[in-house]
Amino acid sequence: MVENFSELPANKAVFAYFSMEVGIDAVMPTYCGGLGILAGDTLRAAADLGLPMVAVTLLHRKGYFRQYLDNHGNQIEMEARWFPEEVLELLPMRVLVNIAGRQVQVQAWRHFIQGEFGHTIPVYFLDTALPENNPWDQALTDCLYGGDTRYRLCQEAVLGFGGVAMLRMLGHHRVQAYHMNEGHSAFVTLALLEDQTLGRGLSSVTDSDMEAVRKRCVFTTHTPVAAGHDRFDYELIREVLGAERSEFLATTQCCSCSVLNMSHLALCFSRYINGVSMRHEEISRSIFPNHIVNAITNGVHAVTWVSPPFRRVYDHYIPEWRRDNQYLRYAIKIPLDEIRRAHGEAKREMLAEVNRRTGACLDPAVLTIGFARRAVQYKRADLLFSDVNELKRIAEQVGPLQVVYAGKAHPRDEASKAVIRRIFEVAAALGHSIPIVYLEEYDIDLAKYVCSGVDVWLNTPLRPLEASGTSGMKAALNGVPSFSVLDGWWVEGHIENVTGWSIGNGWQSEDSVHHEVTSLYDKLERVIIPMFYKHPDTFANVMRSAIALNGSYFNAQRMVAQYLQNVYLRAGKTNGHSVPSQKTAESAILRGL
Ligand SMILES: *Cc1c(COP(=O)(O)O)cnc(C)c1O
Repeated sequence: MVENFSELPANKAVFAYFSMEVGIDAVMPTYCGGLGILAGDTLRAAADLGLPMVAVTLLHRKGYFRQYLDNHGNQIEMEARWFPEEVLELLPMRVLVNIAGRQVQVQAWRHFIQGEFGHTIPVYFLDTALPENNPWDQALTDCLYGGDTRYRLCQEAVLGFGGVAMLRMLGHHRVQAYHMNEGHSAFVTLALLEDQTLGRGLSSVTDSDMEAVRKRCVFTTHTPVAAGHDRFDYELIREVLGAERSEFLATTQCCSCSVLNMSHLALCFSRYINGVSMRHEEISRSIFPNHIVNAITNGVHAVTWVSPPFRRVYDHYIPEWRRDNQYLRYAIKIPLDEIRRAHGEAKREMLAEVNRRTGACLDPAVLTIGFARRAVQYKRADLLFSDVNELKRIAEQVGPLQVVYAGKAHPRDEASKAVIRRIFEVAAALGHSIPIVYLEEYDIDLAKYVCSGVDVWLNTPLRPLEASGTSGMKAALNGVPSFSVLDGWWVEGHIENVTGWSIGNGWQSEDSVHHEVTSLYDKLERVIIPMFYKHPDTFANVMRSAIALNGSYFNAQRMVAQYLQNVYLRAGKTNGHSVPSQKTAESAILRGL
C-alpha cells in the first residue's frame, strides 16, 4: 500500500514539511541542534517508508557558526561557510516575496534524501543571494538564528510565503498537509489564506476561509522555553509585511498586546497540534489552554545513528532492522558478549577521535560519561559538578571516571557560555583525578561518535523544560543506557536498572536541586560505578535492554508512521486522540492520494 506512493508523479498529493533548520549532513551546516536533526531524521524515515513528502527550509550560506574554544573555555565564533553548488542542485524557478514593500527574489536548491528502498524526498533550500536583490536582502538566507528581530522576521517571511509559492512553482499543486515544524514557518498559514481569498483581499476573510486553511495545516511545537516561540512587535510586522497583512493579524487571536506570537499563529490555523512527548503534551496544554494539544513522541533515524560495529551485529542477528526498526525488539536475543564487543569497538573509535582532536589520553578501560547537546542553561551541563569534592571522592573510592562534553552556546547567550567556562575550570581543577574533555564543533559527525562510544549518557535538564530530548535515544540504539532526570522522552523510556537510571524521585515529584544532586551522586556511587566494574554482565544486560525496549520504539520510523496514521491521513479532523482503524486509513489514502 505504502509502496505506491513512490510512483506518484510530481502533480500528485504530497505532505509538505517546513522547518527553519534541517540537519542532513555535517557538510551542510544548516542546523543548530535537536530541532534540525529531528527534521533530518523525520525526512530520512519518511523516505524509508516511501511517503510522498517534500521539505522546505532556508539555505543558510553561513550556517549556524563554527565554534572555537580557547584554553579557558571562551567560545569564539566564526562563519560556517559552505558550498551549496558542490552538494545541491540549483533549480531555475524563482518566486517573489514582498518584504517591506520590496519584491525580493527567491530561488531554490534541491537535495534528495534517499530511503532504504530507494524512494527519494526532495528538500528545497530557499536562497535570496541573487544580484537582483539589494545587499541586505541577499543576506537574508545567510545565518541560521543570526541577526536581529527584523532579520528573523524577514527570514520567516521568506520561509513561509516564499516556501508556499515555490512549492506551487515546482508543480506541487496538491499539498495534502502543510506540516510546520515549530513556529518559525507559521507564515505558511497566512500565505494559504491569501490564496484562499485571492482577489478579495484579507479584509474579506470569512470563517469558512479560515477553516479551509486549518484543514491543511499541522503544527508541532517543540519546547516550553520562551526563546523557542518567536514574538514580533506589531509595528515591525506592519513595516515588513505591510498594512493589509498586519491589519488582518490584529483581528485574530494570535496578536495580543501589539505582539504577534508565531506559535499562536500556527495554533490558530492548524487542525492538529502536537507536542513531542507525553509529558510535553501535558505541559503544552497548560501553556496553550485554548487548544487541543496531542503528543507524538520523537524518535531518531536508526540507521543514521547506529555505529558501524552495532550495524554489523544487527545485520547478522536481525537483518530486518533497517527496513523496519521495530525488529530491534529482538536485540534481546543477541548474546551479551556480542553487545559488549560491539560497544568496546565503538568506544575505542570514539576515544581515538577524542584523543586525536584534543590530545587527551582517555582510557578505554575507564567508565566514560557523555554529555553533548546545545549549551543552554536549562540543560545544566555542570550539574555533575555541584560538589566537585564529592565527585572526586566517589571516583577515588568506588571506581575511576572520565567525562566527554560537547556543545555550542548561541553567540548571544552569555550565561550558557559561562557554563562552558565553568566546565573548563572544573576540568583544570580535577586534572588527572577525573579526566574531562570538552570537544569543539559539536555536529552530526561528532554526535555519531559520542552518542555511541560513551558508557553512560548523562542528561540533567531543569524540569519540565526538556520537551523530548533525542540524544539519549541515539545512545539507546547503541546500547548506551541513560542516566537522566525524569523529563521529556525519559519519562516514557525509563525503567530503573533495565534501560538506565533516573535522577531524582520521579517525574511527578517536586525535587529540589539539592535532592537531584544527592540522587545523582548516590546512584553513581552505589549503583552505576559498581555495576560497571564489578558486574559487567548485569551492565551488559542493561545495555541490551536499552536497545530492545527503547531502540525499537524511540526511532523515527515509528514516529513518522504515527504522523501518517494519526495526522496526515486524518484530513479535516481536529481531535487526533483516537487512532483510526485500518479501514479508515486505507480509504483516506484512496480518497486523498
Ligand atoms: C541529537 C543532536 C542534538 C540534540 O540533542 P538533545 O539531547 O535532544 O538536546 C543536538 N546536536 C546534535 C549535533 C545532535 O546530533
